[in-house]
Amino acid sequence: MTSTTKKTQKLPSEEMLPDAKGYFGPYGGQELPPHLKAIMDEIADAYLKVRETAAYQNELKDLYQHYVGRPSPIYYASRLTEACGGAKFYFKREDLNHTGAHKINHALGEALLAKHMGKTKVIAETGAGQHGVAMATACALVGLPCEIHMGAVDIVKEHPNVTKMKILGAKLIAVESGTKTLKDAVDSAFEEYVKDPDNFFYAIGSVVGPHPFPMMVRDFQSIVGKEAREQFPAMTGELPDYVVACVGGGSNAMGIFSGFMDDASVKLVGIEPCGRGLGKGDHAATLTYGKPGTMHGFHSYMLQDDTGEPDPVYSIASGLDYPSVGPHHSYLKDLGRAEYHAIDDTACLDAFMKLSQLEGIIPALESAHAIAWVMREAKNLGPDVKVLINLSGRGDKDADFVAEKLGL
Ligand SMILES: *Cc1c(COP(=O)(O)O)cnc(C)c1O
Repeated sequence: MTSTTKKTQKLPSEEMLPDAKGYFGPYGGQELPPHLKAIMDEIADAYLKVRETAAYQNELKDLYQHYVGRPSPIYYASRLTEACGGAKFYFKREDLNHTGAHKINHALGEALLAKHMGKTKVIAETGAGQHGVAMATACALVGLPCEIHMGAVDIVKEHPNVTKMKILGAKLIAVESGTKTLKDAVDSAFEEYVKDPDNFFYAIGSVVGPHPFPMMVRDFQSIVGKEAREQFPAMTGELPDYVVACVGGGSNAMGIFSGFMDDASVKLVGIEPCGRGLGKGDHAATLTYGKPGTMHGFHSYMLQDDTGEPDPVYSIASGLDYPSVGPHHSYLKDLGRAEYHAIDDTACLDAFMKLSQLEGIIPALESAHAIAWVMREAKNLGPDVKVLINLSGRGDKDADFVAEKLGL
């Protein structure tokens, strides 16, 4: 396989990252006007205090166990392994969580934080509707009003998720400005949020945005890596050789990576969407093809034009099409602690069908990117290599789309 891994330097301990200003090396921070920076600092202070309290910790732990169904199991996919003729495939089954993906892990963390901070309304943006459904679920559970901003174009496209959010009691705001998609939804949600930041809570849906969100969302998702770090050796007698996850904003990858960060023998691999090719607007492989830049209040790798404006992005998996990426990932790439590769739509669809038909597991199109990379590399890696893949979500949401696309 082609490897971009540089010699791994000694890493700062996980607990040390980010620094007090929210930087992971040169990435992250709060690239915001002073009044917004003050708001973010207040959230950071509240989070750092609340997360130390027994009440908060116990409540979250209890919900993970009794509401989400954690711990999620690790499953050895023997038929897929056999079919690919090399490395062994193990899946961390985040698809089995309540609501069907890893997003519920941070949605609950954020909703509980909002409750402990005495907020009266949670605001969130959503693209494909996955973060919207997870937040609507968490808010129904903790009893907080929830307002989801979603582009009018996405509302038409992602109808089942829109219906779910309504049933769950969320207020849906249709955003009619700009291209009526995710970026406009972010702007609209933020506009509402700054009307009353003392009483409102803005729940970001990945390890992106200004500090403290990349840290907070990573912390909430770290349960995935913590569990896997115990489960995998208990199951196989050793650590995995590779831990692989798809990367949109990067939350499911950060979650599982965090459990293995200090295990130098474990290679961490993030898989980005190469969409329909390398043309501008045809993919969203930010770490693979982007360069450092600033948008949405933080510094990170970014797909951008010469003036620093974000490029349009595309992927068959709507959960992966974001022109920036979590700042922690950018730092891990530069340090050589993690490597990042891109997988296109065609390979993703093939993995989606193979996992379905060889294992009876329909994966989310997002997760199928990570599976596709391991399928491609399995022979090269060889049968002695154990690969742990974060199966970030289930593919019910994608079933109709794939069937139409493949003419099933
Ligand atoms: C949203 C989503 C992703 C991408 O988000 P990350 O923050 O990169 O994890 C991946 N998989 C599923 C199932 C999703 O819903």
